Amino acid sequence: MALHGWRVRVPLSVVPAGGGRAVVRAVSSGGSPGSPPLVPPAKPKPGVVPTAAASAPSDEMVAALAHFVRSRQRLLVVTGAGVSTESGIPDYRGLNGAYSKGHVPMKHQEFLASVDARRRYWARSYAGYARFSAAEPNAAHRAIAALGCDVVTQNVDALHTKSRVPGAHEGVQESGPALVELHGSAHRVLCLRCESRLPRDAFQRRFASYNAGFARHLERSGTQEEGEGANVAPGMSSESSARPDGDVELGVFDYGSVVIPPCTFCGQDEGMLKPDVTFFGDNVPRATKDKVDGLMERADGVLAVGTSLQVYSAFRIVKGMVDEGKPLAIVNVGATRADDLATLTCNALAGTLMPALVKELAKHNI
Ligand SMILES: [Zn+2]
Repeated sequence: MALHGWRVRVPLSVVPAGGGRAVVRAVSSGGSPGSPPLVPPAKPKPGVVPTAAASAPSDEMVAALAHFVRSRQRLLVVTGAGVSTESGIPDYRGLNGAYSKGHVPMKHQEFLASVDARRRYWARSYAGYARFSAAEPNAAHRAIAALGCDVVTQNVDALHTKSRVPGAHEGVQESGPALVELHGSAHRVLCLRCESRLPRDAFQRRFASYNAGFARHLERSGTQEEGEGANVAPGMSSESSARPDGDVELGVFDYGSVVIPPCTFCGQDEGMLKPDVTFFGDNVPRATKDKVDGLMERADGVLAVGTSLQVYSAFRIVKGMVDEGKPLAIVNVGATRADDLATLTCNALAGTLMPALVKELAKHNI
């Protein structure tokens, strides 16, 4: 396992007996006496709240995680919404997550079944996109990029892409770290008829031209909020209603008047354009699954970061690898679906622990 830009000496025979299933817990739920209170690493953006109380990472926790990482020749990192919360993108399941505010994400069948559902979706998504797309990678993304590992992310925010180190690339190739967006990217739009893909920025411009009155109304509302939350829905605070997928709550609005632009390639009308993301109730595309399988195969351990692993497409990765005798470590605030499978669980914010990990690994490489 090598840090990007450093060489790391890999110790031999450090995998615990029993195929790496021995439990070396570094969980600290309330913080030990004398440990500093949790302080977000940087001034959080409005609306960015840690999803739950997590202890600041102890030296012991950092050392245990560093040992785990050093012990792997090729580590696969699986990330979730918890790595993006400090970039201002809320998660679904945290204490302050979208679910706790009553948000019900769009389901695939609902989207397909009704043009009204698609109009409602696109109006809200259009409104939320400016803020969503302006998000920047945080310390967790940068630290994960520095590890130089293959990454599978459940996030559709492209923040790993924005933070990745030179040489990393989409998909899987013989060498170099790979990045697979398990559930797609909200920065692309897919035509369900001809399967063409359109950059989201281009779609946003087309949507605005087809819905000029609506777009102007949003703009006016945004400017009234002194720049914060610009381009969000009228009469609402973006912080309280933004979603992990860029969706926002528009309140009372006549969605029937929304026009979804036709596909620029095949001309399909009535809104068969969909963000290039896997909605709840849909399956991960076969090609994506195959890429993930390739990464699982070539890795000898897996690190889950900022994910509760509740979604099966992510859980099956760590479960499959553990079943193959490849050990699992978890960095997350709160319990996950795979805690019982893990060699090491660290109850910590990704944005705090991952940079500490990189620092610790670098110490031994000078
Ligand atoms: Zn089309």
